[in-house]
Amino acid sequence: MSPWGKNVRDVKPYTPGEQPQAANVIKLNTNENPYPPAPSVRKAMLDFEYDRLRLYPATSAEPLVSALADYHQLNEDQIFVGVGSDDVLAMSFLTFFNSDKPVLFPDITYSFYEVWAGLFRIPFECPPVDAQLHIHWEDYEKENGGVVIANPNAPTSVCENLDFICDILETNRNVVVIVDEAYIDFGGRSALELLPRYENLLVVRTFSKSRSMAGARIGFAAGSPALIRALNAVKNSFNSYTMNTPSVVMGIASIQGDVYFRQTVDRIKATRLMTEQALRDMNFEMPESKANFLFVTHPVIDAKALFMALRNENIYVRYFERPRIDNYLRITIGTDGEMDILLSFLRSYISKNDGRFH
Ligand SMILES: *Cc1c(COP(=O)(O)O)cnc(C)c1O
Repeated sequence: MSPWGKNVRDVKPYTPGEQPQAANVIKLNTNENPYPPAPSVRKAMLDFEYDRLRLYPATSAEPLVSALADYHQLNEDQIFVGVGSDDVLAMSFLTFFNSDKPVLFPDITYSFYEVWAGLFRIPFECPPVDAQLHIHWEDYEKENGGVVIANPNAPTSVCENLDFICDILETNRNVVVIVDEAYIDFGGRSALELLPRYENLLVVRTFSKSRSMAGARIGFAAGSPALIRALNAVKNSFNSYTMNTPSVVMGIASIQGDVYFRQTVDRIKATRLMTEQALRDMNFEMPESKANFLFVTHPVIDAKALFMALRNENIYVRYFERPRIDNYLRITIGTDGEMDILLSFLRSYISKNDGRFH
């Protein structure tokens, strides 16, 4: 080892889904939205005065904070904006999880949580989800240094109800509870309405999925003024100008395109229903999804083999080589046309590979 090697931080990074550059790819592997952002975003982009790039952006993305506060009927001191919700979540781990006790999150969830815990040397424990992939609040009753719940959960697509979130909050009054709502717009009930009751609740959202703006990197947290102050203090001890000016402007424009936003979310929900039914007809099994993806397994077909066969056809879905979920595929909901191509490939693949169909 080189003499300086022992001083290098030893981390196990997150593995994002592939971003293939070819044009003829059906990309259902990173839960991106198949529709463009709102037309108001396009207009804001075309109208953007490039000379504004000369100046540093608003320190805490104040104009976007203000638009988000209006939209969600919160005060400006209840919103923190970051460079995608990954940035917001990383800052939150750094800010709120400074305990010797383990932070708790489910064993099957967004795999970035364990990466941040490793990076910041935060102890953690992962209570297992049950066979139906549901989370049990009783598992979060033990002493801990904080709780993180993705709701709907990724990659399972399972959404717990608001009573479950209340139970978690009631038993965890002395630590910060983060609810990651990356997919909440696709069907679940948001924990935002619980904010007046719990000063230790932080709800994290993103523009990447439901708002079709993964490339703009916009995420935010909503919480009590005390939590938001703490987050801003840590952010300003790390990098004060995080959000770039174009993203602040595009984010505001997205919030203004609300009718379009609701229409595209509804379209994705309709395509999800159609896809779910077609997959069940082929004997795929999956929990009810409240997200823009399905988490599917099949009693006869091997998930990894199917993943590779799809990839050969330039159809990208996500496969996780992890215990308990290594026979599942996570399939993002694309357009109806994209799903039709996927489904017809699956029909022919299954007729060739599932002996019972002969
Ligand atoms: C996609 C995703 C995120 C991160 O989204 P950003 O693009 O960084 O805003 C966070 N949490 C979950 C559960 C996700 O699926």
